[in-house]
Amino acid sequence: MRIQLIRGATLRFSYAGRNFIIDPCFSAKHTMPSWAGKSLNPLVDLGCSPLEVIEGIEMAIISHLHSDHFDSVARKLLPKEMLVFCQPSDEPGIRNKGFYNVTPIENEISWNGITITRFPGQHGTGEVLKEMGNVSGFVFQAEAEPTIYWTGDTIWCNVVKDVIKRTQPKIIVTHSCGAVWRNSTPIVMDATQTIDLCHSAPKSTVIATHMDSFDHATVSREFLREYANANCCCSQVLSLPCPRHLPKPAHIFCRITA
Ligand SMILES: [Zn+2]
Ligand SMILES: [Zn+2]
Repeated sequence: MRIQLIRGATLRFSYAGRNFIIDPCFSAKHTMPSWAGKSLNPLVDLGCSPLEVIEGIEMAIISHLHSDHFDSVARKLLPKEMLVFCQPSDEPGIRNKGFYNVTPIENEISWNGITITRFPGQHGTGEVLKEMGNVSGFVFQAEAEPTIYWTGDTIWCNVVKDVIKRTQPKIIVTHSCGAVWRNSTPIVMDATQTIDLCHSAPKSTVIATHMDSFDHATVSREFLREYANANCCCSQVLSLPCPRHLPKPAHIFCRITA
């Protein structure tokens, strides 16, 4: 198994012998509008060309249709015959962009020996939650591979807690940039919530992503690393991969105190 951070929430997986991408967003630096009035988005370029990123990719999974998770460049570059897995409510939107091999995952699907199970997330609270819409996270399981839980864009909540309890993932990929919307409502996990998750999953390796890429974030990779060092003392690792080091394996910044 190999997981590469491309940028933001975009990761490339090699898992059970298959290559796939999650939440493809390839726009060049500053070519998307600002969301928080701080900067045009994305804040940084990719570490390599998008064509390199999608080389050999057999499938894409999209957690929801916000543009930091499926953007115009990815829609243009991914072949229209590409197999795309998504949450059921996003199927029409993805088909409308010309993709014709779109398979919604209601609960669970088996693909080339990989079981992919979908779980809902909670992308904010109150009015902001309604505005953000449906989001999903996914659990990947395969023989001789560690179980991976990709939470997607969600705050730390009971659903996430239950998924961890039920699936006992070896690896948890979180979106931990502390992004806020409108009246400062958190729409994904911040540092505190990420460490809360770590403490609820002491046997899991937590890979925090989505930082340092978009202007509505409030948590940087560096801040999360410091926060984790000061507040996380359970027996697991918090890995914060850095796209500048692509394609090297994820850097592990958090101390291991087991
Ligand atoms: Zn989102
Ligand atoms: Zn996002």
